[in-house]
Amino acid sequence: MKDIHEILQSTFGYTSFRGQQEEIIQHTLEGNDSLVIMPTGGGKSLCYQIPALVNSGLTVVVSPLIALMNDQVNALRQHGVQAAALHSNLSSSENQQVITAVETGNLNLLYVSPEKLMSLHFIDWLKTTSVCLFAIDEAHCVSVWGNDFRPDYVQLGKLKDHFTTVPTIALTATADANTQEDIIKQLRLNGEQKFVSSFERKNITTHCRPGQGRIQQIFDFINTKEGQAGIIYCLSRKSTESVAEKLQKKGLKAEAYHAGLAPHKRSQIQRHFQDDDIDIICATIAFGMGIDKPNIRYVIHYNLPKNIEGYYQEIGRAGRDGEESEALLFYSWGDKLNLQKFIDDASSHETFKQVQSVKLDRMWQFASSVHCRTNTVLNYFGEYKKVACGHCDNCLNPPKTIDGTTFAQMALSAIVRTKEQVGVNTLIDILRGSHKAEIRNHGYDRVKTFGVGRQTDFLTWSHYITQLINQGLIQLDLTDNSRLKLTPLSNAVLKSEQEVPLSQFVKQTFKTTPKPNKKITLNALDIDTVLFDKLREWRIELAKENNVPAFVILNDRTLKHLASAKPTTASQLLSIEGIGKAKQSRFGKALLSIIEDHLETLTP
Ligand code: ADP
Ligand code: ZN
Repeated sequence: MKDIHEILQSTFGYTSFRGQQEEIIQHTLEGNDSLVIMPTGGGKSLCYQIPALVNSGLTVVVSPLIALMNDQVNALRQHGVQAAALHSNLSSSENQQVITAVETGNLNLLYVSPEKLMSLHFIDWLKTTSVCLFAIDEAHCVSVWGNDFRPDYVQLGKLKDHFTTVPTIALTATADANTQEDIIKQLRLNGEQKFVSSFERKNITTHCRPGQGRIQQIFDFINTKEGQAGIIYCLSRKSTESVAEKLQKKGLKAEAYHAGLAPHKRSQIQRHFQDDDIDIICATIAFGMGIDKPNIRYVIHYNLPKNIEGYYQEIGRAGRDGEESEALLFYSWGDKLNLQKFIDDASSHETFKQVQSVKLDRMWQFASSVHCRTNTVLNYFGEYKKVACGHCDNCLNPPKTIDGTTFAQMALSAIVRTKEQVGVNTLIDILRGSHKAEIRNHGYDRVKTFGVGRQTDFLTWSHYITQLINQGLIQLDLTDNSRLKLTPLSNAVLKSEQEVPLSQFVKQTFKTTPKPNKKITLNALDIDTVLFDKLREWRIELAKENNVPAFVILNDRTLKHLASAKPTTASQLLSIEGIGKAKQSRFGKALLSIIEDHLETLTP
């Protein structure tokens, strides 16, 4: 049997396994089923790719998206691995080529979509080959308890009828406790072992903020991130475009990305982003599934996401290179109501709708929470943890709790005096004594509470009112245009029979991260930035020639190692992280000559 460490080193160019990779690979090679829950960027792919290279037969990988399959196949081929994908976008001759490769035993990994795999014809054909492992990627799609249920996935359970002795490895980055159990049941995993890695991404600092004036807040944030790559997720196509336009007007390199763009335009934008020609992508969630850009420094959610699974997967696209990154989320009641309306109006099954509503509520609790955010997420995924994380806004600047009774009374009394006819923003305008036409037209400037809260700024008020709603002291009436109403608990507060604790609003300032070129330190490596730039130029050219994204040639991390160690021999090259035998033999000559030329310019 081939040695798995040898494959890790010579094919992938890595020196050691990460987390539970080695255990998972051994378990799989012993012929067992397993469920692997590992966060995005954790290194799930190697868990089945290495067994695929040890085994002499075929490993079939099920993946829901063509873009995802193509990226994986491209990356594997760069490593010299025999891999291919079968999907509906292939011409019949391309299709035939793949079939022949399988039949002649010339393929290690075959990527297929679930609907292709489960067609009877295909299963019959597959039985005549030497399948020795099924890898089910994005396995949460099999469960209605998950956040991305796909009916095609349900059929995958039948694989066990046709291939009784072939082990299955199911992998996902997003599955709460219920979903994990359901995956095991639906895929009929036998005597499986569950490998749950910690979901904590220690290099990502999370911030959540009320959404008022979010564009200005984004400008302030991006100001501290000059020339760095980031994604801004928006709820609608229209807002991706308007946000991108505003950023462009500020002279920033930003583009909108959504499913309404022509396919060639989409792949062009994606390519420019991968190659660092565009810094910021304003996207709907259509963007990012197939993205393995390691140096994304921040992810912003312009609107509240639908659920914690999606949110966590999206922020997981930041900092794949292990370096410091940030996630910034904006939330408002408006966002929440919009999302609730999407759920209510959808034609999906009632149970599914209920599950989605509960997930949305949990998302809201997360965003408006004053406790450690990381722990909220970890607890959600069943990884119970109490010690505060130290890398979320609430840990870094813990909000103080104050006696907020007076604030609560001001708000409640304004609700009474406006006869429960106003929503959150108008209420705050009244409390702050705004002279907007809308306020005057309704005569709200004549109510007794007009202006009583003018000492307190808008964002702070918004933060307090959210807490009052969360505490059940105010009701946000969805059936009446989101107007604010009293609740059975309000009276005790109005009569001063009950105190109301509120957490203070902390105005977090964003810390400036220096431009990447000034500081490309990788764990305190001493990087020659001029050489790094030369290597990047070479990589961009080569990527264009080969029509692949730049990172599949060599990723930034590897370039940094090269620009620090400056290897001058073929064997020194092999000791660089990310360079295995295939990459050494393909790129070795070119790399050594760039380094040599560069060293010459340094000698006087
Ligand atoms: P996931 O599928 O879990 O999101 P990937 O399998 O795409 O993650 O891996 C994320 C990144 O980490 C990839 O660039 C991959 O090459 C790298 N990686 C995976 N395992 C290792 C390892 N043992 N050592 C170094 N890098 C690794
Ligand atoms: Zn925390």
